[in-house]
Amino acid sequence: MTSIVAALRAVRARIADAAKAAGRDPASVRLLAVSKTCPASAIRAAFEAGQDAFGENYANEMAEKAAELSGLGLEWHFIGPLQSNKTRIVARYCRWAHGIDRLKIAERLASQRDASLPPLQVCLQVNVSGEASKSGVPPDEAVPLARAVAALPRLALRGLMCIPEPTEFTSLLRRRFALLRQLGEQLRAEGHALDTLSMGMSHDLEVAIAEGATIVRVGTAIFGERDKTARTGEQASQ
Ligand SMILES: *Cc1c(COP(=O)(O)O)cnc(C)c1O
Repeated sequence: MTSIVAALRAVRARIADAAKAAGRDPASVRLLAVSKTCPASAIRAAFEAGQDAFGENYANEMAEKAAELSGLGLEWHFIGPLQSNKTRIVARYCRWAHGIDRLKIAERLASQRDASLPPLQVCLQVNVSGEASKSGVPPDEAVPLARAVAALPRLALRGLMCIPEPTEFTSLLRRRFALLRQLGEQLRAEGHALDTLSMGMSHDLEVAIAEGATIVRVGTAIFGERDKTARTGEQASQ
């Protein structure tokens, strides 16, 4: 597990360097460790190295790990596409949900979030790549969706999230991330108190930070390559 500790340190250094290069305070960028497919032991190792926020995108898998690690007080973020039959799990275990792209899902979360818990912190996923990606609300529908979600109880709309299409072209990536930032600015100009841009992963976090990311979601660079053949029934259906 020392490799996880070293990898975490390296990722934190990348974040700090990218923030400084962009003239930003490194503390303005939060690291979300994406632990999907990782065993609870790996999460524990990262926790012992000072990491407390973890991202998962398979609800049943997250629920198992959250139960197993409940003594640690970890902060769970759901970052995947969310189906109606999984909202109850997210409403119960998560502090954050990043992949909201339909009002119906947000309404279910709002009605299922227990009043004894703090509001669920929400980011809307925007499809910044157009045809090339299927998840996320189209950019021109993001503002009306944000207005509707902001009006729901038990949820706190915090910002926007995106996953650009894979590309080697930094200039294209920059444009995708810039679009998310501009949509966030537009919503702020309308009076929404958004403070979050959830963007950037293992291979592109520097570009995302240059465009204003406040949460980077990093899996592979911390936990290593995932076994892509180890698909559960739940994953196969998503
Ligand atoms: C898996 C995943 C990540 C992390 O990707 P890496 O390339 O492993 O860093 C980030 N965001 C989402 C939504 C993911 O599903």
